[in-house]
Amino acid sequence: MNFPDITADLKARTPQLRGRLLANQPLAELTWFRVGGPAQVLFMPEDESDLAYFLQNLPADSPVTAIGLGSNLIVRDGGVPGVVVRLGRGFNEVAVEAGNRLRAGTAVPDVKVARAAQDASIAGLAFYRGIPGAIGGALRMNGGAYGRETKDVLIEARAVDRAGKVHVLSNADMHYTYRHCGAPEDLIFTQALFQGAAGDPATIAAEMDKITEAREATQPIKSRTGGSTFKNPPGQKAWQLIDAAGCRGLVVGQAQVSELHCNFLINLGGASAADIENLGETVRERVKAHSGVTLEWEIKRIGVGA
Ligand SMILES: Cc1cc2nc3c(=O)[nH]c(=O)nc-3n(C[C@H](O)[C@H](O)[C@H](O)COP(=O)(O)OP(=O)(O)OC[C@H]3O[C@@H](n4cnc5c(N)ncnc54)[C@H](O)[C@@H]3O)c2cc1C
Repeated sequence: MNFPDITADLKARTPQLRGRLLANQPLAELTWFRVGGPAQVLFMPEDESDLAYFLQNLPADSPVTAIGLGSNLIVRDGGVPGVVVRLGRGFNEVAVEAGNRLRAGTAVPDVKVARAAQDASIAGLAFYRGIPGAIGGALRMNGGAYGRETKDVLIEARAVDRAGKVHVLSNADMHYTYRHCGAPEDLIFTQALFQGAAGDPATIAAEMDKITEAREATQPIKSRTGGSTFKNPPGQKAWQLIDAAGCRGLVVGQAQVSELHCNFLINLGGASAADIENLGETVRERVKAHSGVTLEWEIKRIGVGA
């Protein structure tokens, strides 16, 4: 399915635009699951002021969706109407600052932040080693692992709102809870400032190696997946509830509940987004019937059905 091409109109409204606008750009290849339809328009801004300029001149009723590295995302088969914003080059810098701080653009992969912190003898950011997203996704998801999360290390974040205004948000402004950020949904994050502590590079490296080993042993990290599908309900583990409901290995179309980690869904090769989402909904129904618990999606689903 293709959307009407609105790029000529958008270019006419934004003569000074420096970033790229592409019509009907496939998104599947930009996500870990490798499923889903196109973006009506994919916009890759050059830098924060280019993003702000674009948003200031975009018709107010045009929907805007930010994506990062697509590691927590199902793009539905009919694609995403409006503009999908993907940050690249102009948001890719990492800088070490005084006081064991690290400033990173939101297109920087989490693993690069972990490595930069290690190189600068900054402890406290090693948990980012195992999260396969970029910093924008970590800010929006309150990404975390092994007892730490973004909330514990963030000083402030920069963002651009739907009207093109730049904001600086403190940690409190992000209203973080488990895998949730309560800052306004329209914000596109552009930069983060993190606080670490003085550390020893060899100790940090050993911690990161341990994380890598643990991931490889317990998660299907080489599969087409979206990481943890459902949030852990308070005091419980989603994977245990899914296992107890008999869903380990369950298949719908070409999508499967991972045998290795049953809170992970996998695209066996030819899955549609609908296969994966229907499998997730089937799991939710079975868990509800078995244990009475309603699982809440952690994976974000965007766009429209085919
Ligand atoms: C194998 C595997 C293991 C994983 N392990 C973990 C884990 O241990 N801990 C964990 O927390 N997560 C984990 N995840 C999930 C995922 O990596 C994280 O949620 C990650 O933070 C998502 O980042 P992303 O760049 O891929 O964002 P995407 O998946 O592209 O987007 C996720 C959400 O963030 C929003 N978003 C992205 N960039 C921006 C931006 N610049 N501004 C505003 N909003 C934005 C999107 O709109 C969307 O709502 C795992 C995923 C996989 C595939």
